[in-house]
Amino acid sequence: MKKGARYERLSRIDKRHVWHPFTQMSEWEAGDPLIIEQGRGNYLIDINGSRFLDGASSLWVNLHGHGHKRIDSAIKKQLGNIAHSTLLGLSNVPSIELAERLVSIAPRGLKRVFYSDNGSTAVEIALKMAFQYWEQANGGSDKKRQFIAFTGAYHGDTFGSMSVGEIDIFVKKYKPLLFGTLRAPYPYCYRCPVKKNKRDCRTECLKALEELLIKHSHETAACVIEPVIQGASGMIVAPPGFLKEVRRLTKKYNVLLIADEVAVGFGRTGTMFACDTEGVSPDFLCLAKGITGGYMPLAATLTTEKVYKAFLGKYDEYKSFFHGHTYTGNPLGCAAAIANLDIFEQERVLEKMKPKSILFGELLKKFETLAHVGDVRHMGLVAGIEIVKDRATKEPFPPSERIGHRVAMEARGRGLIIRPLGDVIVLIPPLSVKEAEIKKMLKTVFDSVRKVTEE
Ligand SMILES: *Cc1c(COP(=O)(O)O)cnc(C)c1O
Repeated sequence: MKKGARYERLSRIDKRHVWHPFTQMSEWEAGDPLIIEQGRGNYLIDINGSRFLDGASSLWVNLHGHGHKRIDSAIKKQLGNIAHSTLLGLSNVPSIELAERLVSIAPRGLKRVFYSDNGSTAVEIALKMAFQYWEQANGGSDKKRQFIAFTGAYHGDTFGSMSVGEIDIFVKKYKPLLFGTLRAPYPYCYRCPVKKNKRDCRTECLKALEELLIKHSHETAACVIEPVIQGASGMIVAPPGFLKEVRRLTKKYNVLLIADEVAVGFGRTGTMFACDTEGVSPDFLCLAKGITGGYMPLAATLTTEKVYKAFLGKYDEYKSFFHGHTYTGNPLGCAAAIANLDIFEQERVLEKMKPKSILFGELLKKFETLAHVGDVRHMGLVAGIEIVKDRATKEPFPPSERIGHRVAMEARGRGLIIRPLGDVIVLIPPLSVKEAEIKKMLKTVFDSVRKVTEE
C-alpha cells in the first residue's frame, strides 16, 4: 500500500485522538489504520486509492451500496428544506410519511412508531415501554417487572440493553450495575445449550423457556429476542419454527414479545423482516441499522395499539412516555429511510436476492472441507463461519491467537473488508452484491481461512 504524506498525517492524528469502538487501542496504535475516504457501490476506497469490497456492509447497515442515487438525492432534497427540527411538541414531514410506510410493511398489529437514533435506544425504548405498560395497564395491579432474554443475546451497549444481553466480554464488568434478567437457552445447535443432538434440540430449548414462563410469567413484563438470527454472538440461525413457538408461548403466558430486528430487519434474511419468515407479529419491533440503507443514524420502535393505549390519560396522571432523544425523528434520517423503502419496492430487492442467496449457500458448502471450520451458518445474505482448533471436540483456538482477526487482515490484503465476531468469520455484504462479487468474496475468505489456520 503506497502511503502519502496526507495518510501519514491523518494516521498520526487518529492514533493520538480517536478512541475506536470495540477496539484494543494498544493493538490499534501499533498498526496502520485503513482510512476510508469514498464509497462507490459495493466498494470502499481508502485515501490512498485502494478499493475494497464492503463485505461487512459498513457494520451491517449498507444495503444498496454506497452512493446510491436515490438515497443521495433524497437526503439532498430534504437538506434543501430542513436538516433537523424536533418531534418534541412539533412534527415534521418525513417522520410522518416514514411512520405510515413502516406500519404498512411491518408485521400485523404494529401501528405506533417511536423514533430514536440507534439500535441500543430502539431496544431501551421497547424495554421501558413494556415495563411501563404493565405499571399502567389494569390500574397497575400486575407486578410484571422482569424480563426474559436468551443466552448469548446482544441488544446494544446502554445499561438496559446490556442487562438483557449476555456476551460476557461485553457486559461482565458492568454486572453490578445491570438489572437481573431471566435467561432462556437460545438454540445454538452447534454447541447445544441443553446438551441435546441436533434433531430434538428445538423441543428442549422451548421446554426450558416454557418452564421459565410457568414459574415467572406473573412477574415478567416481556421476552426479548433477536428473531431467527442471533447476530453478535456469531450469526446463529435458529431452527425453523423456533420463533413461532416463542411467540405462541409468550402469548399463552401473557408476556409481551420484543423482537430486536436491529440486525436482521430490512431484507437481510430474505424477507423484509425476520419475523415474516415465520408469520410472527411481536408486540414490539426494534429497527435500526439498515433502516436508512446505511446512510444516516435512525431507529424506530414499533408497537401495538394495545400498548399505546395504556399510556393515555390526563396530563397530570403522568402516564406519558417520558423518553425522547434530541434527534428523535430527524428529517434527514427519515428521508433516507423513505428512499431505502422506495428502493426495496422499485428495484425488487427481495426478489433479486433469492438467486444470490442460493449461490451464497452453495459456495459456503466448500468451507466444510476445511480442517478448522467447525460450523457454517447461512441465511439470506448473511453467513457465520465458526473456526475451531479441533473439529472433533469443537475446542476453540485460544483467544490470544486472534484467529478471526488474522483472517480478516488476510482478507483485507486481498481487497475484502470483513469484521469477525471472535473466531466466527462474518460475511454480510450489501444486498446489492453481484454474483461475481459473491464468488470473489467467498474465494478470498476461503483462501484466507486456509492460509491462517493451516500454515
Ligand atoms: C447492532 C445491534 C444493536 C445495537 O445497535 P446500535 O446502533 O449499535 O446501538 C442492538 N441489537 C442488535 C440485534 C444489534 O445487532
